[in-house]
Amino acid sequence: MENKTKYDVVIIGGGTSGCACAYMCAKNKLKTLLVEKNNFLGGLMTGGLVVPVMKSSVKEYNCEYYSQLVKTAKKYKAQITYKDKNDGWFNPELLKIVLDELLLSQNNRKYLDILFESEVLAVERNDKLITSIVLKSNLLSIPIEASCFVDATGSGEFSLMCGCEFLDDISIKQQNSLRFILGNVDIERFVKFIKNIDYDEDITNTYRNDLDTNDEIHFTTASTWDTNKVWALDKYLKKGVRDGILLDSDRNYFQIFSVAGARNEVAFNCPRINNYLDNPFKYSLELIEARKAIYRLYNFTKKYFDGFENAVIVNIATQTGIREQKRIKSKYIYSKEDIISGKAFDNPVLEANYPIDIHSKDKDKSLLVKTVNYSLPVESLISSNLDNLYAIGKLVGADFETHSALRVQKSCMSMGEAVARHIKQKLFSNTEI
Ligand SMILES: Cc1cc2nc3c(=O)[nH]c(=O)nc-3n(C[C@H](O)[C@H](O)[C@H](O)COP(=O)(O)OP(=O)(O)OC[C@H]3O[C@@H](n4cnc5c(N)ncnc54)[C@H](O)[C@@H]3O)c2cc1C
Repeated sequence: MENKTKYDVVIIGGGTSGCACAYMCAKNKLKTLLVEKNNFLGGLMTGGLVVPVMKSSVKEYNCEYYSQLVKTAKKYKAQITYKDKNDGWFNPELLKIVLDELLLSQNNRKYLDILFESEVLAVERNDKLITSIVLKSNLLSIPIEASCFVDATGSGEFSLMCGCEFLDDISIKQQNSLRFILGNVDIERFVKFIKNIDYDEDITNTYRNDLDTNDEIHFTTASTWDTNKVWALDKYLKKGVRDGILLDSDRNYFQIFSVAGARNEVAFNCPRINNYLDNPFKYSLELIEARKAIYRLYNFTKKYFDGFENAVIVNIATQTGIREQKRIKSKYIYSKEDIISGKAFDNPVLEANYPIDIHSKDKDKSLLVKTVNYSLPVESLISSNLDNLYAIGKLVGADFETHSALRVQKSCMSMGEAVARHIKQKLFSNTEI
């Protein structure tokens, strides 16, 4: 039998929450392995083109990794701080390089191994404990033993292989999106155009960032049929439909942002696509529809928006924007009552106030509901039926509605960090917490 390499912690998935967990495990001197199926880190933040980080935390619990990320990104001019003081506007391509540096920083290097383009082939269990796994990496099989395992895949693929139980309470589903970026946009001209048609600062926010990134101009604007509000851009979208350039469904959600460190790029948080995750054939056809929609939106902006005349498609996300997939059955299932009452927990994973945010495919069915400040217990990140399995990020053990608030990036990073600290305490004091 081949010798198994032994780790304290193995984290499957090097995305938003997995990177935070790996960084903090290594910083706490835990021998850590991070396994990522792509050839880069960052998950939805990089491959999914999901920028910017939404402001969520009201107290900086478990935000050490996030502040180091901002600091490292600044060095690479891969970050700006927007006028609302949100310092989580990152450049998704540069972030891949930033994450490499941050995770393997001098002190962490001794404790952290990263395996790219690797996936789990098999799992071995002894009753309620996962004892070892076999990885497939570059056509090699690598047997690994560890004390604790963390699923940060977003999909729950690893937990499923382990036999973890999941919640099954979905009545409505979140819509997915396939994000993309247009380049060669004259942002100065577009900003003049948008300011002219839209006096409502709720919709359009423009900002010249003199300090951080050499006088870049930044903006965000949107239009959606989710609310009764009359959006300034909607008349252009309607005209696009009348002219046969857009489909009516393209009006459902249109949101664009400038990109940190890229003077002429615009990132799109659309098109939305149907959530057919239970039917791989329909799901694959949806991706083809999404690319058609991207092409329509590209032609639309070139024709109707000043500054977009010479735009080019520079990036279509390599990771589909799946908002919600599986949530684990955790030791404590976080519920709507908890979020509404702002229930307090000892040693919370986070304290945040990002709203309940449900993207529905039906007109007027989406929700954006403000909450009081809420916190989350670490028990919502521990499997109820497997003693050494943790699940972080999108996999949090929360009901559907509270998940829609907890899933934002900064909260996912806090989950990764909190689990690292929890494991450190568990392994070093050898007691259940
Ligand atoms: C369309 C969309 C828009 C959003 N907008 C915002 C926003 O504006 N601001 C905000 O803060 N949040 C936003 N969010 C939410 C946020 O981006 C995600 O909830 C969060 O990034 C999820 O983090 P995660 O760690 O769970 O997953 P991910 O970041 O997706 O990481 C999962 C990682 O696991 C890897 N992986 C998967 N399977 C395996 C496997 N079997 N083996 C090895 N590796 C594997 C993946 O390649 C990936 O790197 C948005 C989400 C979506 C989908």
